[in-house]
Amino acid sequence: MTKQKDLAIFGGVPVRGKDNPLPSVFPRRIADSAWTYIKEVIESGFTSSMEARFEKAFAEACGVKYAITVTNCTAAVHAALAALNIGPGDEVVVSPISDYGSVAGVVAQNAVPVFPDVDTRNGCVTAEEIKKVLTPRTRALVAVHWYGLMCDMDPILDLARDKGIIVIEDCCQNPLGEYKGRKAGSMGDMGCFSFDAEKHLSAEHGGAVVTNSEELANNVRKFAVMRARREHSPLWEEAP
Ligand SMILES: *Cc1c(COP(=O)(O)O)cnc(C)c1O
Repeated sequence: MTKQKDLAIFGGVPVRGKDNPLPSVFPRRIADSAWTYIKEVIESGFTSSMEARFEKAFAEACGVKYAITVTNCTAAVHAALAALNIGPGDEVVVSPISDYGSVAGVVAQNAVPVFPDVDTRNGCVTAEEIKKVLTPRTRALVAVHWYGLMCDMDPILDLARDKGIIVIEDCCQNPLGEYKGRKAGSMGDMGCFSFDAEKHLSAEHGGAVVTNSEELANNVRKFAVMRARREHSPLWEEAP
C-alpha cells in the first residue's frame, strides 16, 4: 500500500505526468467508409436518406421499433421528458452520478430532479434506493447505465409499473449493453443515447431517443425534429 508520504501531493513521484499521461480517446479511429457516407450526404444536397437509414438500423440494433436522432443526449433526455409532458410540479428521479445531460432536461421542463443513492458496487441506481425518494409527484425516472454497467432493471421496472412511473434509460455509456438478453434502452419506456466524440459510438456530436411506443416517438419528433412540421420522416418508409 502507498504510504502517505509517497503520494505526489506530499512530494512523491506522480503516477501520471507529461511522459505517462492518462490514455486518451483521441485521435479516434475513423473507418475509410466515413468518406463515402459524407460524400453521399454532400452530393445529395442534404436529401440523402442517411439519417433515416441510421434510425432504422439503430432501432433494430437496440431491439426497439423506433429511433429518433437528435442533437445529443442532453436533447434526447429533454425531448423524452417533453414527450411525456413532464412539467412544473412534477418530480423526476435521476441517477446522482452522471453527466449533467441526464438532469438538464428536467430543469429545462421546470420539473424537480430528485436524487436517490446508488449501488456502491456499480454506481447505478437500484429499486430499493429509488423507493426511498418517491412521492405522489414522482412522474418519471432517468436511470443511467453507468460506465458500461447495467442497472438491475427487473426490480426497477416492477417498482415503476407498480407506482405508474415512466422509465427513461440513459444509455450514453452503454450502447448495445445487455441485461438478461435485453438491450440497453429497450426495457424502459424510452432510451436515450449520445454519439458525442468521447462516447463509444461517436459521430463527434449526436444523440438518439429509442422507444417501442409510436405515440412517444411522434411526440419526440414533434418536439425535437424539424420544428414540429412532420411527425414521420417520409424517408423512414423509403429506407432500404
Ligand atoms: C455524455 C452523457 C450525457 C450527455 O450526452 P451529450 O450527447 O453530451 O449531451 C448524458 N448522460 C450520460 C450518462 C453521459 O455519459
